[in-house]
Amino acid sequence: MKPADRHEEEYDVIVVGSGVSGAAVARSVAAQGGRVLLLERGGRVNHMGSTLTVMRVLDGCGLTRSREKHPVTFADSLGGASNLSAGCAMPPPLSVLSAFGIDLSVETGEVRRELGIAELPDRLIGEANFRLMDAAQSTGLPWRKMEKFIDAEKCIEGCGDCMLGCRRGAKWTARAWVDEAVRFGAELKLGTRVDRILCEGGSAVGVEGKRFGRTFRYRGKAVVLSAGMSDVHLLRRAGIREAGKGFCCDWLQFVGGVVPGMNTYNAHPMAVGTTDLYESEGLIILPVFPNWSQFAVLLASKGFQHFTKLREFRDYTGIMVKVRDETEGEIYPGGSFSKPITLQDRKRLDKGVELIKRVLRKAGAREDSILALNPIGAHPSASCRVGEVMDANLETRIRNLYCCDAGVLPQAMGAPLIWTLAALGKRLGNHLGRRLSLAAGSRNA
Ligand SMILES: Cc1cc2nc3c(=O)[nH]c(=O)nc-3n(C[C@H](O)[C@H](O)[C@H](O)COP(=O)(O)OP(=O)(O)OC[C@H]3O[C@@H](n4cnc5c(N)ncnc54)[C@H](O)[C@@H]3O)c2cc1C
Repeated sequence: MKPADRHEEEYDVIVVGSGVSGAAVARSVAAQGGRVLLLERGGRVNHMGSTLTVMRVLDGCGLTRSREKHPVTFADSLGGASNLSAGCAMPPPLSVLSAFGIDLSVETGEVRRELGIAELPDRLIGEANFRLMDAAQSTGLPWRKMEKFIDAEKCIEGCGDCMLGCRRGAKWTARAWVDEAVRFGAELKLGTRVDRILCEGGSAVGVEGKRFGRTFRYRGKAVVLSAGMSDVHLLRRAGIREAGKGFCCDWLQFVGGVVPGMNTYNAHPMAVGTTDLYESEGLIILPVFPNWSQFAVLLASKGFQHFTKLREFRDYTGIMVKVRDETEGEIYPGGSFSKPITLQDRKRLDKGVELIKRVLRKAGAREDSILALNPIGAHPSASCRVGEVMDANLETRIRNLYCCDAGVLPQAMGAPLIWTLAALGKRLGNHLGRRLSLAAGSRNA
């Protein structure tokens, strides 16, 4: 083994991964005066708003597939998947989490205020969304305006590029909290991949990995894994073998159709929709459609006979169903993974697709244009579940080794996760502040 860089100074908390939860933990601990080191394997993508952005933000250019050949998205850059979110805010599932001893009621309110969560003004929601909402309501589906973490002052009408990365900084991303963490004194290292947890006497004492081809080691009083699927590999290498046995990904399916005189190409994504079937059917329905390049890939995976539809791409009105999937499959050493669509997942997706087709028909979609694309896993989660791999403080059985990201959720949420993850990160940050006896309350974050 090559000699490691010598970095023997000790941090209070080392956070691995700069997605929503990692950023929230780093910011909270740094605001309390703790010495924080935030390690991110990716870089800072500055070019926002194009297919290239998506390719640079996502691992494997967004083409990562399960052994069953379904695409599942994993982040690979500063701020993680939040760079590509639609800015859609759904509150944390308080009752699901409280069953595991996690009370997020205070943090939920704090995140609402800090992210400015609110409905968009009508001018930004736009005509296409309102027409779809009318069509849905006349089929008996109770659509309403969704809440967003988007600054309406900075957002403009007719853009709709949120999921390609916001060029105007109108949409909140984890990068905002990473930058705040740095202002509070946290050290951020990009291009820095953690490969191993360092343990002594049953406690985590640091991390080891590679930066520009050189091995590094850093020591910390606590290590927080917020690195998505990488958590599983790191935990398994540390001896926690049950990590990655079963996970969720909130299968989603896009359904599109050409409605003469209407399209959602430039409409604000997920600005309206329904969550009323969430409890009873485990699904939500929101208007949004992939951009041209994702459409091309999804069409190709459906069969080349559908490829002619790409010509009409700009005319498509699209709606998505997202479901709470069952905990299934496995993340394997080496990075491959299996994630079958179970019978129940399929039933939920089919139900959503049927409801969407009704809405599109009501809106006047041409029957021959209506097309359901293949399922995608959008929110990898529940791979290191609280109650199984972590306790209620998100600490593993290795003392001082914590996990905090979508992986710790106990089950699929089938819904946008950012609000929940930001609240979880704040809660862990406060717990670490108390545990490490930091100067509590020095700054509220
Ligand atoms: C297209 C799209 C749209 C979405 N829209 C919404 C929405 O509107 N609203 C919503 O609430 N949610 C949305 N989501 C979901 C949401 O973005 C994610 O659930 C959330 O951002 C995940 O955050 P996380 O904290 O789990 O970390 P991740 O975003 O998974 O970040 C993990 C980070 O760890 C880094 N990392 C990985 N391995 C290592 C390693 N070994 N060493 C160092 N760093 C490492 C990665 O590079 C990454 O930056 C969307 C997701 C996608 C893909």
